[in-house]
Amino acid sequence: MFDEGRLGLLDAGEVVDLTDHLGLPPDAPGGGLLEALRRRLPLAELGEVPADAPRSPMADHRVRAPIGRPSKILGAPVNYRDHQVEMDEQVTIAELGLFLKAPSSVLDPGGTVRLPYHDKRTDQEGELAVVIARTARHVAAEDADEVVLGFTCALDITVRAGEDRSTRKSFDTFTPLGPVVVTLDELADPDDLGLRCEVGGQLRQDGRTRDLIYDVRTLVAYASSVMTLEPGDVILTGTPAGVGPIADGDDITVSIEGVGELTVSVSAADAIAYDIRPSRATVPATGGGGVQA
Ligand code: MN
Repeated sequence: MFDEGRLGLLDAGEVVDLTDHLGLPPDAPGGGLLEALRRRLPLAELGEVPADAPRSPMADHRVRAPIGRPSKILGAPVNYRDHQVEMDEQVTIAELGLFLKAPSSVLDPGGTVRLPYHDKRTDQEGELAVVIARTARHVAAEDADEVVLGFTCALDITVRAGEDRSTRKSFDTFTPLGPVVVTLDELADPDDLGLRCEVGGQLRQDGRTRDLIYDVRTLVAYASSVMTLEPGDVILTGTPAGVGPIADGDDITVSIEGVGELTVSVSAADAIAYDIRPSRATVPATGGGGVQA
């Protein structure tokens, strides 16, 4: 997605603008891709690049998150063994199930992650994201490919504190997505993609999706056994070892083999002290509050 919400096809470094070709509004809420999926336009069958669609260099445009406002973002907690070990977790996704992130947490490529607290650790988690193509309920793992549009790069930014995951991971800007969706047919093997994440130019994460505890098809089957998946929904597949604190001025880059490279920056300009967050003063502390995955 680019500019105010137009849908483009990336072809040899140029954007082919499909917005008018597909009869989409130029400023659809959540973007042209979400609108096209909701209208059930046959994106996978586009095949040839339409000759009537205008082309221009990618650099002339503002690249946006592929799905600006998904109906939901699902997260996979503790879905790599090496991350389980580093977090000293006794359980995995098999016991924890999935969590939800607020759709309002999506951040465009090149955007700025806003740290909420200057005295609570906030970590990067580089992740492969699955974009759902169509409405799906009770999909068997062997049929999961039929409801998957493709993949994009994601960060699951996380405050390490005692709250539920949905709170700690749902701050605005906490789900950078993009820059493009690579459709399933373009990938040789989504079950074995290299994933790397750098913070401040230092390599922190270097994993492979073959080490997922629940692989992509299992995640789709499991998620759709719980809730109806809607077009444009996003499933974050979990993070390998190497998560760590991010700080004001950092750049974070997650790169996934065959999928792309996503970079965002970090700012603490809006950060406050954890203990002055709203409501805290009126609720007695009950202990706990340790660091969670
Ligand atoms: Mn995560």
